[in-house]
Formats: sequence, structure tokens, C-alpha cells
Amino acid sequence: MTIWNPWHGCKKLSPGCANCYVYRRDESIGKDASIVTKTNDYNLPIKKTRQKEYKITPDDGTVYACMTSDFFLEEADEWREGVWDIIRERSDLDFVIITKRIHRFEECIPFDWGDGWGNVTICSTCENQDRADYRLPILLDLPIKHRAVISEPMLEDIDIEKYLKSGLIEHVTCGGESGPNARPCDFKWIKEVRRQCIRAGVPFTFKQTGAVFIMDGKIYHIDRKLQMAQAKKSGYSYIPGMGMADKIPYELPLRKTLFEGLARSDFRSRFYLSADDRKYIADKGMDTIRSHAADFVTKRLSSENPENDGKQTPMRGHPVFIAQHATACCCRGCLEKWHHIPAGKVLNEEEQKYIVDVLMDWIEKEVG
Ligand code: SF4
Repeated sequence: MTIWNPWHGCKKLSPGCANCYVYRRDESIGKDASIVTKTNDYNLPIKKTRQKEYKITPDDGTVYACMTSDFFLEEADEWREGVWDIIRERSDLDFVIITKRIHRFEECIPFDWGDGWGNVTICSTCENQDRADYRLPILLDLPIKHRAVISEPMLEDIDIEKYLKSGLIEHVTCGGESGPNARPCDFKWIKEVRRQCIRAGVPFTFKQTGAVFIMDGKIYHIDRKLQMAQAKKSGYSYIPGMGMADKIPYELPLRKTLFEGLARSDFRSRFYLSADDRKYIADKGMDTIRSHAADFVTKRLSSENPENDGKQTPMRGHPVFIAQHATACCCRGCLEKWHHIPAGKVLNEEEQKYIVDVLMDWIEKEVG
């Protein structure tokens, strides 16, 4: 990976900028980050050795442009054309441009951009729902070959599923905020976007916890050195079909704790077996109901990304469906939230048996 900062300094634009690390770092050395200047690295990707070969080669990895500014900043308009010339010349390198100013894209692209350049990924940031709903429709509408989304600092729960379902977003990254004034990032927000990515088949990276990380309602202050390592250790990054969720450590809840929690939930506790359900159970017998439950779990829940996940369990029509809603075994999101079984994991035999046991426990309690 190569960082290329052709200009330095930026103007704050949206809530994600409040604790901008460029400002923080510049302040620590007595510099004003709001003054935007062209840097000595402006030509970095085309600098050559004495043998007249490019210093940066494709082996150096992806080139991240403007990491101490914003590529589409107004103050850099006069320098951008030269940067496009450099990117055009280095068509052998992959460039990533991360921006909060996707709304300026069309007025900033080069004459020969066409429907996009294959070596350029445009990554729009969205720190909250408001910015996601403003920027992502613009990102999807533009002529771009490779699109990505980053939510860092992630400031709240964000629903980007409808944008992911377009099939046009290739990658999503989420992470918390670092620094002394960091705003908290809740693990449940990270997990939620990850589940949206799984359902849409989009790779997801959990990049860093940030300095203030909330997990299961508890606040943790994480040392800067550990923020990326902890995110990596969690195993919550995801690439479809790679079995990455198999490595996520988790513990199933105690049955007693689970049922006490379900009883406290207004939504879960409103489910009950109808007279027809009870008659069906009496006619078929518990062994048959258990085999139906096992079949539903295998067919509708066990794969890495079950079809129609979140809507695969009808609200009526079989006593097992009712038990699934009552015990939060209805979709992979509920299984993760209530039973801690990571979304994106192919359920093994033991996990499937656990779910069937929970369903049958509930049904047996109901029929008395
Ligand atoms: S756009 Fe990025 S670099 Fe610019 S102020 Fe905001 S966070 Fe900082």
C-alpha cells in the first residue's frame, strides 16, 4: 500500500470531520490544517529511479490518494488536472480515492473519464444515516468503474442495504473514531452493517474499534495501538464464500437466561400457539414436529447467506414458524442478536441441533 498526498490540508464539511486526524496531527506541530498546500509528493507515482524506472511499482500495492485532504476539495481545483494526468500515465497502478465530496465529482473529472477508469476506485464516506442517504445515491449514479463505501468514524446505526443491493458497491469498511475526543462506536452498529453486506454479498472490513468502543452496553477505552488489532481479532470482517465467520469466537446463551430475556421482550412474548397449531402437534406427534423443525433450520437458516434472510420465516402456517419467532430463531440477524451465532457462518450440526432444541423447548412448554 502506498499513500500519495499531492496536497495537504482540508476544510471541515460534515459531522465525521469534527475530530479530523489531519487537524489533530497538524495542531500538535503548530500547523494550521485549514490551509491547503500542494506538497513535494505531488508527482510521487511518476517519480523515477536513476535507471529511469518508476520508483513505485504495482508490487507496492494500491495507491491511496489524498489521505491528509480530500481529493475533490475546491481549494485543490487548480492542481487536480495534473493529478489525473499522473493517474492516467500510471494505468498499471490501482488508485483509491476516499472522499466526503462525492457531490463535486462530475465537475472534477478529466475530459476522457468516459464511464470510469478501471484503475480507480471511488470510495464515498458516510458517517451517519443522513450522509449515507445524501452521498450514496450520488455515488451510485455516477460513471464509476469501482465503488466502495467507508463509514469511519461510524457515529450511529446506519442502514445502507438498499444501496448495497444495487450490486454496484464492491466493498464496505466500518470503524470507530480515534483520538482524545473520540465519539463512541457501538459494536452492534458494526454488526448490523456487516449483516447488510452479507445479505447483499458485499465484502466487509471491520477496520478499527476506535478509542471508545461499546460492546453489550459496556464502554471500553481502547489504546490507539490496539484499535486495529482488536477489530482484526474479532474476526468480523467478511468476504463471501471464504468461511471467515467460522473463526469468530462466541458463546451460546444459557437456556435459562435466553428464555428469561425472551419473556421480557414485548415482541417475542406475544407469540403463542393457536388451537390449529396445537391440534397439528397432537395429530403429528412431537417426533414429527422435531423433524420438521430440523428441516426448516437446515433449509432456511443454515447456509452462509440464506435466501431472503430476514423474511424467510412466515408468521403463521406451522407451529415451528411460531416457535422460531418466539425464540428469535427466525433469521440470521435474530440468531446473532439473541443467540450470538455469527451471521455469515454456515451452521454446523451442533448449532442446528441447538436451535432445534430451543424450538422444541418452547413448543413443549406451550403445549404443557
Ligand atoms: S474531509 Fe476528511 S480530511 Fe477533510 S476535514 Fe473532513 S475528515 Fe478531515
